[in-house]
Amino acid sequence: MKDIYQIAVVPGDGIGPEVAAAAVRCLDALFGPAGPLVLREHPAGAELYRRSGESFPAATYAACRDADAILHGAAGLPGIVHPDGTEAGLDFTLRLRFELDLFANIRPIRLYPGVRSPLAEVAPGGIDYVIVRENSEGLYAARGAGAQLRGELAVDTLVQTRKGVERIVRQAFELARSSRGAPADGVRRVTCVDKANVLRSYAFFRAVFDEVAAEYPEIEAEHGLIDAMAMYLVTRPGHYNVIVTENMFGDILSDLAAATIGGLGLAPSAEIGVTQGLFQASHGSAPDIAGKGIANPYGTLLSAAAMLDWLATRHADARLGAGARRLRQAVEAAIAEGVLGRDLGGRYGSAEITEAVCARLG
Ligand code: ATP
Ligand code: MG
Repeated sequence: MKDIYQIAVVPGDGIGPEVAAAAVRCLDALFGPAGPLVLREHPAGAELYRRSGESFPAATYAACRDADAILHGAAGLPGIVHPDGTEAGLDFTLRLRFELDLFANIRPIRLYPGVRSPLAEVAPGGIDYVIVRENSEGLYAARGAGAQLRGELAVDTLVQTRKGVERIVRQAFELARSSRGAPADGVRRVTCVDKANVLRSYAFFRAVFDEVAAEYPEIEAEHGLIDAMAMYLVTRPGHYNVIVTENMFGDILSDLAAATIGGLGLAPSAEIGVTQGLFQASHGSAPDIAGKGIANPYGTLLSAAAMLDWLATRHADARLGAGARRLRQAVEAAIAEGVLGRDLGGRYGSAEITEAVCARLG
């Protein structure tokens, strides 16, 4: 336990500053002026690059590396790219992800009472599962190192290492073991999503999954092929508890999953490694709605609650665990009482939603 936790806040681009401000406001209201968090803002992103020629200053990187946790809005804007063609803003996420080895991308998918899901009919018992996406390997690890041959042929490489698969699968089983919820049928299970019937790399992922699964006999282990899973997450979402999968499949499935619980605006995410965690909503910078005051801050608020939970466990600090619970309950209460933005069929703006949550912090 520490007296004070340093949080590096990186608002970023588009709606990033709006949703980050909402999180800062709620965290301030949660703990009051003498609270355990010191929230300090640091610049990064495409807008900064446009203004200054730099998208990820060394000082911001150092602050993120040395902080106890990182809270992020969103980074990147269409058309603002570095001379080598890579998106300005993307380097923020990727450098932190790879240099701080944030190997696990944890995305809870939960349908809150008060939100209309297109799947309400197929999931009478609710939707409440977690996607654990491998964040450091797979098809995305090469980061543009793929090859293109004279406009005729292009190749990318999918890499899975034993170390990489083992640690993400273990993370998934530990989560299933410790998590409060289990699916409607009460069975704790971890589902490995792959394409093991066609590709060697995925067969390897599955084989390592099976080895680790044997260490957790009390948790049901099952396999799902990615194509079938795209169907099952729509037709029987109530079946799932923890889903573990390779980087790109996790990327795709988590957008699909977010749509089933009310959209990207509600979906939180945590990218964690051994020593550092980066917390941000699942959505991007949504430039189409930036500056209009209508961005949904709930995904970022739930990410801030996940940050408190992660810090609470890591530092055995009950204050933070209690704070996470209060913040989450306030979000749930506001949603249940119909405090919804336009993305969810409501009429509230970002600031009104934020104040509604603060008012319910108790
Ligand atoms: P990225 O490439 O960073 O993942 P993206 O292209 O997937 O970004 P997002 O920025 O995530 O796109 O947004 C997709 C659309 O979803 C936006 O155009 C916006 O209309 C909507 N959206 C995203 N986040 C929110 C939010 N917090 N509140 C309301 N609408 C949102
Ligand atoms: Mg996206």
